Amino acid sequence: MSSNPSLPASNFIRSLIEADLASGKHKSIVTRFPPEPNGYLHVGHAKSICLNFGLAQDFNGKCNLRFDDTNPEKESEEYARSIQDDVQWLGFKWDGEVRWASDYFEQLYQYAVELIKLGKAYVEDLSAEEMREYRGTLTQPGKNSPFRERTVAENLDLFARMRAGEFADGAKVLRAKIDMASGNINLRDPAIYRIRRAHHIRTGDQWCIYPMYDYTHCISDALEGITHSLCTLEFEDHRPLYDWVLDQLPVPCHPQQTEFSRLELHYTITSKRKLLQLVNEKHVSGWDDPRMPTISGMRRRGYTPEGIREFARRIGISKSANTVDMAVMEGAIREDLEGRAARVMAVVHPIRVTITNFDEANAQSREAGFHPNHPEFGSRMVPFAKELWIEADDFAEQPPEGWQRLTVGGEVRLRYSYVMCCDEVIKDASGKVIELRCSIDPETLGKNPAGRKVKGVIHWLSVEHAIAAEIRLYDRLFSVAEPDADKDVDFCQYLNPHSLSVVQGWVEPAVRAAAPETRYQFERLGYFCADRREHQAGGKLVFNRTVTLKDSWTKE
Ligand code: ATP
Ligand code: MG
Repeated sequence: MSSNPSLPASNFIRSLIEADLASGKHKSIVTRFPPEPNGYLHVGHAKSICLNFGLAQDFNGKCNLRFDDTNPEKESEEYARSIQDDVQWLGFKWDGEVRWASDYFEQLYQYAVELIKLGKAYVEDLSAEEMREYRGTLTQPGKNSPFRERTVAENLDLFARMRAGEFADGAKVLRAKIDMASGNINLRDPAIYRIRRAHHIRTGDQWCIYPMYDYTHCISDALEGITHSLCTLEFEDHRPLYDWVLDQLPVPCHPQQTEFSRLELHYTITSKRKLLQLVNEKHVSGWDDPRMPTISGMRRRGYTPEGIREFARRIGISKSANTVDMAVMEGAIREDLEGRAARVMAVVHPIRVTITNFDEANAQSREAGFHPNHPEFGSRMVPFAKELWIEADDFAEQPPEGWQRLTVGGEVRLRYSYVMCCDEVIKDASGKVIELRCSIDPETLGKNPAGRKVKGVIHWLSVEHAIAAEIRLYDRLFSVAEPDADKDVDFCQYLNPHSLSVVQGWVEPAVRAAAPETRYQFERLGYFCADRREHQAGGKLVFNRTVTLKDSWTKE
């Protein structure tokens, strides 16, 4: 077994698999990732993807991608495509073709007929509301439906007619016949087929009955020879039903369902339904808005697949609550980008500097490498000129104690360039600083100044060479840690109104030709990623801030 950095460190699922391989229960493992194509994948799904595909990689097994497409009204081709893109982008490859639960509709139907013949399923005429009343509660057993004792022949006839479209939507359902008094409500004769005249993305109008998730999922697993069916904890109470269905039917194998805890991230939400609401109500620009915790949003923001996989490894797999601070994700991304992103200079809140002693002869440009530890990243010229942009907050007229940046009469080192002294401040009529008049020490290019120490180093750009760019700075999407904690309050109330600020900044000419999705470190500012929508050849340059250089989350 190779050690795989994308796999969470040792955990109970891994131990279970090791034991199953050691005992000979399985010769190799087959897992699956089973999303419903009813939205874009989010960071919680990334955890599940890394687990399922990571285990398959690590144990030399296989992992299937299977769409759980049993809810035609909510599903779309666009979602299915985006899910495939996301899984591949994260760096994983499913075994063989993509699978669809709808590929098994005929088999699922035949198995339901089988259940009826065994006296283990019946056609129900009660309305949904009546069924709810008959179901009982957590403390009270349910009652048997008056239709529960229909004969096999009658059930076979009615079920065939359900399929044939003889009944209205919702008029009947097929129910498993288990135990209306069970302590587990999932076993109180759950519905396994319903009538729904809805166009399906793959089967079109071929079916007007659709199998329910619990019934479909276990049989699909069995048909695919899944050995370990991993899901989140809310399905723990469904496991007896999973096992019951497989125990009744002549399926090829009986996979083992094992549950682990869902990932929840502070200051965001991990529910497709709620993310869809953000998109529909236009609180964000789309599923791939860089503030979204979707895989496509994280990608557009500049997160790397390696960083996300490392995050998944760090949070681990267990059955205990898995609520994680965004700082854990950002830490993993930052560490990955540290050695991966070329370093350049950009100015996001510019103030103009005029070099009063600029003189072509002694004001030279210098070559600078793109990464201090990666000479293979190459280098570029950083052009020096008479007019510069520096960051407005790198200058203070009345500096606080310990200030190491620019002030009147003080000196700083311009990164890759000269030591510069601020001699004079120019203000507009309102008293706002609009320009700094500075002078350089021509003897300081690549050398320390004689007889004095200059501690501060600031980034800058030449005005005539700089390229305009729109820079999008992101903050947390919600202003409270658990926006959906209170069921009676719409989580949208807690949206952070300052989650996006757009500034017009400047970047080095070296990034002009950056391909969409190129990631940079803008020195002293953070990691930024060329937008993949607007940053097209000839389009406007847009950079999304991926993450700041230091953790700005945990210090509050
Ligand atoms: P959502 O509640 O966001 O719609 P879901 O569970 O309904 O999610 P599915 O498409 O059914 O979405 O999920 C596919 C797989 O991803 C399932 O096995 C599910 O358990 C897993 N998964 C979904 N959300 C999380 C999460 N927050 N953490 C870990 N795994 C998750
Ligand atoms: Mg689901």
